[in-house]
Amino acid sequence: MQTRAFAAQSPTTPFGPHVIDRRAPGPEDVAIEILFCGVCHSDLHTARGEWPGTQYPCVPGHEIVGKVMAVGARVSRFKPGQLVGVGCMVDSCRTCDACQEGLEQYCNGPIGFTGTYNGPVGGGPNTHGGYSAAITVDQHFVLAISHAEKDLAGVAPLLCAGITTWSPLRHWGAGPGKKVGIVGIGGLGHMGVKLSHALGAKTVAFTTSADKVAEIKRLGADEVVISKDEKQMAAHANSFDLIVNTVAAPHNLDAYVMLLKRDGHMVLLGAPSTPHPSPGVFPLVFKRRAIAGSLIGGIPETQEMLDFCAKHNIVAEIELIKMQDIEQAYARMLKSDVKYRFSIDMASLK
Ligand code: NAP
Ligand code: ZN
Ligand code: ZN
Repeated sequence: MQTRAFAAQSPTTPFGPHVIDRRAPGPEDVAIEILFCGVCHSDLHTARGEWPGTQYPCVPGHEIVGKVMAVGARVSRFKPGQLVGVGCMVDSCRTCDACQEGLEQYCNGPIGFTGTYNGPVGGGPNTHGGYSAAITVDQHFVLAISHAEKDLAGVAPLLCAGITTWSPLRHWGAGPGKKVGIVGIGGLGHMGVKLSHALGAKTVAFTTSADKVAEIKRLGADEVVISKDEKQMAAHANSFDLIVNTVAAPHNLDAYVMLLKRDGHMVLLGAPSTPHPSPGVFPLVFKRRAIAGSLIGGIPETQEMLDFCAKHNIVAEIELIKMQDIEQAYARMLKSDVKYRFSIDMASLK
C-alpha cells in the first residue's frame, strides 16, 4: 500500500513529504490509520544521526494512535473502527526468556526487538514509523485504547513517554511511603511526574527551567527543585528511594546520587549521544546506592499503563502540530521549550 509519510533524507536534510510502502495485512496483522503521533526526543536523535546506524530515508514516530482499518484472518482481539496504539516495537523473537516474560524490549533473540522505526527487517529497508498515514503491525504489538476518542492526541505520548517512565516506577516500587524524584521535565519527565503522583509516591521534580515550576506542581509534583540551585539540591540529600533521570544531555550524575538514601536507585532513561562524566565511586559505595538503566517497557506492562491512565483520566500535556511543523518542533525541543509533548495531527498529511 502506497502511504504518505514525512521523511528525513539525511542527517542534515529538513523533513519533507515521502511515499512509503506498507504491507497488506497478513493473517496476524492489524492495518491502522494513524490519527496522531507524538514527537519523542529519540526521533530527533535518530533522524539527525546522533545515534549510530540510522538508515535513510528515515521516517520516525513511535507514539502512534489510530483506528483499525482491517485485520488478518487470525486476529480476534481487534476489529475495524477500534482505537489502538503502537509504541516503540513492532516485532521480537517471541521465544526467548525475555519475550516469554513479556519484556520484549530486552529480547535476547538474534536481532533483539524490531524498532517501530529504523528497525532492521531481513534484507529490505529498515522499518518506517508513525510520521505517516498508516501502518501495518503484528497483533502482538498492537495495544487496545480505552480512552475517549476526543483525548486521542494526548494518549499518543503514553506509547513511549508513558511506558518508559511507568516501567521503572513499577519495577522499583513507586507508591505510598516512597519518595521519588523525576529529573528533566520534558516529554518523559512530565509523564513521570503524573504517573508517580498517581501511584501515590511523594514526587519531587528536578528542572533547569524556572518558568515551568508552577505548571509542574499542577501536573502533580509535591515539590519542584531548580537543579542548578545547590542549596535547593542539598536540602534533599540522602532522602530518595528512587530517582528517574530523563535528561537527554550529558551531566553530573553525582549531584543526584547524593540525594539517594541507603540502597536508593537512580534509573537513567535519557540516552545522550555522548557519555555522562563518570560518576564517583564514593557516593555509591558508602550508602550501597545504585545507578541503573531502563528501556521503554514490555507489551503487557504497556497495556497495564494504558488501562491505568484511562481509569485515572491521565493523558499527556500536548501541543498539537501539523506534520509540516516538525522542523520548528525539533528546534524547540532542543531548547527544552516543549510543554510537554508535541503531538502531530496526521490529518495534516492529507
Ligand atoms: P525532552 O522532551 O527533550 O525532555 C528532556 C528534558 O531534559 C528537557 O525538557 C529539560 O527539562 C531537560 N534537559 C534538556 N537538556 C538538559 C541539559 N543540558 N541539562 C539538564 N537538563 C536538560 O526529551 P524526551 O523525549 O523526554 O526524552 C529524553 C531522553 O530520553 C532522550 O535522550 C530520549 O532519547 C530518551 N528516551 C529513552 C527511552 C528509554 O527507553 N530509555 C525512551 C524514550 C526516550 P527541564 O527544562 O525540566 O530541565
Ligand atoms: Zn520515544
Ligand atoms: Zn525474544
